[in-house]
Amino acid sequence: MKEWSDPELRQLLQNYQEVAGRDVIHHIEQLAAPLKGARVVHVNSTRAGGGVAEILHKLIPFKRALGIDARWEIITGSNLFYQCTKGFHNALQGMPVSIQDHLLREYEKTNAENADALRELLNDADFVFIHDPQPAALLSHFPQRKGKWIWRFHIDASHPHRPVWKYLRNFVSGYDASIFSLPEFAQPLAHPQYIIAPSIDPLSDKNCDLPIEEIEAVRKRFRIDPDLPMILQVSRYDRFKDPLGVIEAYRLARKLTPLQLVLAGGEAADDPEGKAVLSEVLEAVQDDPNIHVLLLPADSHRTINALQRLADIVLQKSLREGFGLTVTEAMWKGRPVIGGDTGGIRLQVINHYTGFLVRTPEGAALRTRYLLHRRDVLQQMGERAKRFVWENYLITRHLREYLTLMHGLTNGNQERIEVG
Ligand code: UDP
Repeated sequence: MKEWSDPELRQLLQNYQEVAGRDVIHHIEQLAAPLKGARVVHVNSTRAGGGVAEILHKLIPFKRALGIDARWEIITGSNLFYQCTKGFHNALQGMPVSIQDHLLREYEKTNAENADALRELLNDADFVFIHDPQPAALLSHFPQRKGKWIWRFHIDASHPHRPVWKYLRNFVSGYDASIFSLPEFAQPLAHPQYIIAPSIDPLSDKNCDLPIEEIEAVRKRFRIDPDLPMILQVSRYDRFKDPLGVIEAYRLARKLTPLQLVLAGGEAADDPEGKAVLSEVLEAVQDDPNIHVLLLPADSHRTINALQRLADIVLQKSLREGFGLTVTEAMWKGRPVIGGDTGGIRLQVINHYTGFLVRTPEGAALRTRYLLHRRDVLQQMGERAKRFVWENYLITRHLREYLTLMHGLTNGNQERIEVG
């Protein structure tokens, strides 16, 4: 992870101010002032691939710029560990999978080993944010902890497969608080639960403005036809993202509208199922020259940014989705999104206003054709989408809510908290 110098951190605040406004940054500075010097550690299981890593890359320097001693640690494990945690992920999103005992033992052993490596740092931290189930069992190894421990759960847990949730609940219930992205995901737990939606960083390579030459270079590099409308889905190759449904939607839409589809994805170090899903996708594509399946390295942020700008419409046809940063990213670029009617996509895609919510490939095809024929509506929805993200889903709002939560946890019983 990049080390930031002090002048760079100061400049960072200045840059956020230009996008979000002076008042927003001033408010954040007021909230952060009493937390200066606080030791905050975030822990997850990968630095690359997926939304959690994407957010932490940006949230940590922002906190540091405000004088908070924020760090990011990852836990590592064997293939068996990731097999187990992918099973958790699938089960918590509602798949009825049972996880074998030897995998659960590997999960517990891996958390114990990682706890040893992180002992001093986490014992002394004022706030520890544990992201998702992978490191959830760390808590049980820190009976001497001094700070508040918060479990931050990013996925759609509205209908978890009960046996797996019951197993994980044993680890999670000891936390001081938990955070979910949507109220529907909250679970019966005997500690405070906070609802905080994720966000994007407008200054990042993934979301900043790009020169037209760079966008055109990406078009040429992937041989995207400049004369054909383009629909895009950016996602890890994961069945919950429904890439096969996207291909079906494209095929249905193309019967009546000339069209090309780009599926852009990469591998996440903690996702062992990606290869199998990619093979299924390639098999479904057959030899269609107008479907481009891209396997991108983890640091392809500017490339993805350019693809989102090249697209006429962005799809995110997920069957389950915690939040869907890819939706936010596309909306920020003024693209309407046709998204699965599920989880965090519903927060962002306001049906008929910033895009369309769909449940089937037929629905996605219908909406695609409509928008391609009604360019005026497409453009208007895209403009609203960008505004909606500016108002609700930038990192500045996200950080403000994290800081408020930290105050809430340390001053829980007070009716009024004065912050500068
Ligand atoms: N992403 C990426 N490369 C890829 C696929 C996805 O950089 O090949 C990024 C994507 O731009 C987004 C994040 O990974 O920022 C995915 O977050 P999202 O919340 O959409 O889904 P998750 O993968 O966390 O389920």
